Amino acid sequence: MAQTATNELLRSLPQVQEVLQASTLQALTSLLPHNILADCARAAVDTARTSILEGANNAPDTSAIADDACLRALANLRPSLRHVINATGVIVHTNLGRSALAPEAVDAVVQVARGYSTLEYNTDAMARGSRHDHIEHLLCALTGAEAALAVNNNAAAVMMVLTEFASGHEAVVSRGELVEIGGSFRIPDIMAQSHAAMVEVGTTNKTHLIDYERALTPQTAMLLKVHPSNYRLIGFTESVGVKELREVANTENARRATQITEGIAPEVLVYEDQGSGALLRLDCFGEYAEPTVAESLRAGCDLVSFSGDKLLGGPQAGIIVGSKRLIARLKKNPLARALRLDKMTLAALEATLRIYLDEERALKEIPTLAMLATPAQDLLPKAHMLKQRLEEAVPHACAHVEVIPEIARAGGGALPMCDIDTYAVRVEFLTGNALDCERALICERAEPIIGRIKKETLLFDVRTLIDSDEIDEIACAVAAYFTSLSPTNKPCEGDCHA
Ligand SMILES: *Cc1c(COP(=O)(O)O)cnc(C)c1O
Repeated sequence: MAQTATNELLRSLPQVQEVLQASTLQALTSLLPHNILADCARAAVDTARTSILEGANNAPDTSAIADDACLRALANLRPSLRHVINATGVIVHTNLGRSALAPEAVDAVVQVARGYSTLEYNTDAMARGSRHDHIEHLLCALTGAEAALAVNNNAAAVMMVLTEFASGHEAVVSRGELVEIGGSFRIPDIMAQSHAAMVEVGTTNKTHLIDYERALTPQTAMLLKVHPSNYRLIGFTESVGVKELREVANTENARRATQITEGIAPEVLVYEDQGSGALLRLDCFGEYAEPTVAESLRAGCDLVSFSGDKLLGGPQAGIIVGSKRLIARLKKNPLARALRLDKMTLAALEATLRIYLDEERALKEIPTLAMLATPAQDLLPKAHMLKQRLEEAVPHACAHVEVIPEIARAGGGALPMCDIDTYAVRVEFLTGNALDCERALICERAEPIIGRIKKETLLFDVRTLIDSDEIDEIACAVAAYFTSLSPTNKPCEGDCHA
């Protein structure tokens, strides 16, 4: 385009002040401070200017620029960390915040968050108390442990245990358990960070008792077992259980008893990083059910650590259970202070653990457990409800909707071998396509909806939906996508507000 024409277009652009006077932006003045609105207006004008300089042959008018500024301002109002609808069928979805809390746990968080609390105050003694006390007795009751401690997450718990008991010494671990959990948590790296010398034994697929026995040196302070998380060896494999490791440790500790008493040799501890943290046995998973924390302790672990927000279904936390003597040492480690839980997490954890005191209640009220344990059959009404809502909201010429059997996943590195039967609602696109619809559901909504694409259809697994509002939200959002393709694709009967 001729330079003069370009200059003409640039001159026609409004000033930032003019854009700010537009009624759409004026409507936002009570919601956002002036400087942010001005930044949005400036950014909108800049974008228009850039497009002219890049050859656009007309300039947007003031109201179009104001609309752009308005969208930017609205995006600014939207929190970055916000609620999403999980229709993926992955129950402990790490990217989506792992476990949803039980309503009672949510209430407990709200109560301590809105005011002062007994966080470190003992009302019986009318004196300073310890934040550990709120949950320790519950963890002991639920696992059979003598003592317990909770920190920021299980990665922190592993780090703390290794630092306190294996720093400057050797920790023996099977090559089959040197796993990476994801989010850059690798057992060898955590070992190095905590100054524990890692002694690898066995091979990738097989580790025998004799491998551990041969690895013992006067520097051995720990036999470490790591839950392989979302990774499984199948076929020609062998690993050593906690019971046998206990015997190895007992024999060695008896042999070096005098040196241990004199403090010149470390005691050999058996520690299991259990990852998933099952407090009760999920019999519905038969042979695949994760071992419980109580079972690991009974088998002979000195210490067991696990996550609070995986199978346990509580807030993010790392829980360590074991003997009083060892937990007391951990509580004195400076890392206990650095990694301690805040009051909101403690409130959620205490409330969640209280529900566990009644196993039947736990299976019903803790969302993660309920989602895992619900028989597929019981999900059918929810699936048919979603199908019906979609059929009401979306014109029949746009999509074909069907309830189909599908497979859900536990996620969070738990139960990786379990195909959990579930039902999903499948949307087949007669106009538009699954990818575009998925993008619209995730990118263009205040409350993103995450489904799953399979063979050019979009699936919504109802197993991970929290309440029936979410069914309506999905139906309205899919309907809105079709309306965006063509205004003639008007929702038919649904009462969608969005
Ligand atoms: C998940 C997991 C961890 C890390 O736990 P976070 O609570 O996510 O820090 C450590 N070890 C194992 C075996 C795990 O499965």
